[in-house]
Amino acid sequence: MERESLDVDVLYVGAGSASLASAIALKRKLKAANKDITILVLEKAEEIGFHQLSGAVMDLRALRELEPEFDRLGFPHDGEVVEDEMRFFTEKSSQSFRGALLPPPLRNHGNRIVSIFKVVRWLKDLAEKEGVDVYPGFPADSVLEENGRVAGVRIRDMGIDKNGGHKSTFAPGMDIRAKITIFAEGTRGSLTKKLVAEKKLDAGRNPMTYGTGFKEIWEIKQDLKGKVIHTLGHPLTEGGQYGGGWVYGLPDHKLSIGFVIGLNYRDPRFDPHAAFNRWKSHPWMKSLLDGGTLVRYGAKTLPYGGYYAMPKMYGDGFLVIGDAAGFLNSARLKGIHLAMKSGMLAADTIYEALEKNDFSEKQLSIFNDAFEKSWAREELYEVRNFHQAFEGSFWWGMFKAGMITLSRGRMFGGRAHSTPDHEFYRKLRAGEDGNAPNNAIAFDDKLTFDKLKGAYYSGTMHDEDQPSHLKILDPNICATKCAEEYGNPCQRFCPAYVYEWDREKKRVNINFSNCVHCKTCDIADPYQIIDWTVPEGGGGPKYLDM
Ligand code: SF4
Repeated sequence: MERESLDVDVLYVGAGSASLASAIALKRKLKAANKDITILVLEKAEEIGFHQLSGAVMDLRALRELEPEFDRLGFPHDGEVVEDEMRFFTEKSSQSFRGALLPPPLRNHGNRIVSIFKVVRWLKDLAEKEGVDVYPGFPADSVLEENGRVAGVRIRDMGIDKNGGHKSTFAPGMDIRAKITIFAEGTRGSLTKKLVAEKKLDAGRNPMTYGTGFKEIWEIKQDLKGKVIHTLGHPLTEGGQYGGGWVYGLPDHKLSIGFVIGLNYRDPRFDPHAAFNRWKSHPWMKSLLDGGTLVRYGAKTLPYGGYYAMPKMYGDGFLVIGDAAGFLNSARLKGIHLAMKSGMLAADTIYEALEKNDFSEKQLSIFNDAFEKSWAREELYEVRNFHQAFEGSFWWGMFKAGMITLSRGRMFGGRAHSTPDHEFYRKLRAGEDGNAPNNAIAFDDKLTFDKLKGAYYSGTMHDEDQPSHLKILDPNICATKCAEEYGNPCQRFCPAYVYEWDREKKRVNINFSNCVHCKTCDIADPYQIIDWTVPEGGGGPKYLDM
């Protein structure tokens, strides 16, 4: 089969805040030295920004470094934070904490409430103005290697039908070769995952641990513009899970709400999506949302593991940046500024490598040195044990996390080890129904919505006449061991009703066209037999304004 191939100098896989900030910084540095090269950014989504989902109250530190004139250049935002609050939920009531009683990581004065979709679109425009090529609809399917070094990526073939035959639209995916490839695929990137395993980039690190975040945009009666409220407690205290919620007031009576749950919960019958809806049903949340309408829904995973779980971020011919490398402060629930900073540090590294025409592992190791000297490392190091604190009980975790915050990471400061999320499940006990959530909720289509409706509100679309991009490596395990031991938790942890247990045929049906690309299944499957791969270009959610 003839494949087209394209040669570029620098290739970014994934168009998010990390890669776009990096490409802008690199182009500017080259221009200042009167030099030019080809820089290409690939993105699997139909349009840049469609697969971007985040809180997001943005810390502007990295943006100020990248583009001090950001306001003059029309940086899109939904206002500055004017009021901060934390609420602790019990089942029926809540307690407010403000001012000095507010935990420092949750203080947001001076930060901006943003839509990451709009921020990434704005960065894309800046990048294109600098001469960066940005291609949406190009899903990178495999890593090209030459003599043990990363040499680029191969794009997924187009026009393959669900039985593996070629349709009239068949086109082999292009090979894109580069001097250096930067993986910026986001959390649990499908190529990064394989690279980490193959090159043992996680040797000696803690396992990366994750949370799944749900987000909705609502139109409500009240005007809460500029208010930021974080919540802890109910309903997660019921089962000892770790996580919390947020409410961000947007202009025009809009509200961004979200809920994040650590994937290290124990009961395989727990359903994170049901927990999210139980949180929305809390009397305080209900009073906010009553009479409002749901505008959009989405879900994504977050890399919670922190400093000790970050993989080695360089090797022969490649770098790893952003969420793919774990640039997230889980105590602050913030990652955009860290992702951008990782990209900007990578730009300096790439510039040096271009100068020396040396893309070896040794040369690229200066990326790690630069990170270790940066404010990004300082910030991540202060919360190096934050997530691990919650691997025990919720209340003990709260105490430890509080001490870690107050002592700026010094208390419980030695390296706390952690366990991969999927190893936390306990097995089903006698008499437990493995096919029913232990926290089920009746959806009312006003305040609470089932997963199918959620998938609808995410705008998700995939051509159904293509092979499923969700590969189950051993379906026999689903029908036997997993059904008996854990009750096929995929049917619960997936936020988009992709996995459906067929009681009669005793098998898992995969409704892959609902997939919102959150990667929860790739992480949380107890036997690690689900492999999330890229679908045909353009498939997935459309997170407009999220
Ligand atoms: Fe997320 Fe996997 Fe479900 Fe897709 S199939 S929505 S990646 S859990």
